[in-house]
Amino acid sequence: MDEYEFAKERYERVFNLLEEHHKWFSEALTLIASENVPSEAVKEAIVTDFMSRYAEGWPGDRVYAGCKYIDEVELIAIELGKKLFDAEHVDVRPIAGVTANLSVYTAFTEPGDTIISLAIPNGGHITYGKKELGGTAGAVRGLNVENFPFDSEEMNIDVDKTKALIEKMKKEGKKPKMVVFGGSLFLFPHPLKELAPYLKAEDIYIMYDGAHVLGLIAGGEFQKPLEEGADVMTGSTHKTLPGPQGGVIVSFDKYSEKLKNAVFPSNVSNHHLHHVAGKAIAFAEMLAFGKQYAKDIIRNAQKLAGALAEKGFKVLGEKNGYTKSHQVVIDVWHLGGGGVVEKELEQANIIVNRNLIPGDIKSGKHFKNPGGIRMGVQEITRLGMGPSEMDEIADILYRTLLKKEDKEAIKKRVKELKARFSKVRYAFDSKRDAYEYIKIRLK
Ligand SMILES: *Cc1c(COP(=O)(O)O)cnc(C)c1O
Repeated sequence: MDEYEFAKERYERVFNLLEEHHKWFSEALTLIASENVPSEAVKEAIVTDFMSRYAEGWPGDRVYAGCKYIDEVELIAIELGKKLFDAEHVDVRPIAGVTANLSVYTAFTEPGDTIISLAIPNGGHITYGKKELGGTAGAVRGLNVENFPFDSEEMNIDVDKTKALIEKMKKEGKKPKMVVFGGSLFLFPHPLKELAPYLKAEDIYIMYDGAHVLGLIAGGEFQKPLEEGADVMTGSTHKTLPGPQGGVIVSFDKYSEKLKNAVFPSNVSNHHLHHVAGKAIAFAEMLAFGKQYAKDIIRNAQKLAGALAEKGFKVLGEKNGYTKSHQVVIDVWHLGGGGVVEKELEQANIIVNRNLIPGDIKSGKHFKNPGGIRMGVQEITRLGMGPSEMDEIADILYRTLLKKEDKEAIKKRVKELKARFSKVRYAFDSKRDAYEYIKIRLK
């Protein structure tokens, strides 16, 4: 094969694989808690010429010419973000949640400082991980990381023990510079209100990582981090908030210069302008439809959790009604572990992810086959599924994992269920199928 043919074969193959993926996801139960399906409006925004331009800096103060329309779009995204989060300062330039977190570390900490955050089995994200784990806080910003005391009955941070930990750290000369609320396994609002007065009196910065729950916060159905005492909130714009992949920082005027500089020039040069346009569109959708969307997500998660418990699954967070977010987490150690179960479900076109759960590291479990499975209902809710579908999904999981019924038959049932919900809801425009493969090349 000459190079042209070699290249052309790969070129076609990539498109074939993309189409196959679209078909598969249109037939699958997509339950990964950090994903979503954006509207056709968001998709339209991100295939525009914005994708190939540069606009380093802040609107009106750019490093490049040609930004007349780019600036206006970014200012609209900021305006919408301020309304959505009731905030003085919004920065839509971080190209990912990780970039947003790293920018906050850049603004509020110095290498060698100490932070407190959740350990990974208790819900912590790798961006606030220790150096030994390759975590962004430790390995990139050089921060020392202590972990919140966690109550796995409550599935939440222990307020009194956290205060005691900080008192102890003070005595040892290791007072934390910042405390990071939020996480990736996130069933219940964190006790920010309860801890904020103490932390403020100690002059400790409060960061809230809302990556997962950003859409619920935007819809007013989770906690209100800035109102409850956080100095800054970060988030991803593609999890419960169904926009393009990206990050956002939300805060107060008093920190805006410091935070802006920490984004550019410290952590971003160009900031993916097509995704800025996509964020503006997604923010507008959330402002118009987000309240109902967030309500429906939480109602569905609670319904699914209850139905799974009734079927005999070990659902975490029982003491507090299983969940107040988009997530449902089950302990599947007795079924072979999260790694085994994740693969078993994938064979039936049910897409979930394995997850470390509280106690996993202490009992010697590994991320490859942890104790839990984490599910999120935000994507299927966006497609219009409701309480009766949550019952149906609980039954499907029961038949797959507990009754070990034939995977092909289950796959067929999943496909039929998904086919009934093919359009994105909670959007201004929704004519195309949610997973339609949109072809641009002309034949
Ligand atoms: C997903 C996630 C992030 C990282 O966001 P990306 O947009 O994937 O970079 C940060 N924090 C938490 C808690 C997350 O779950």
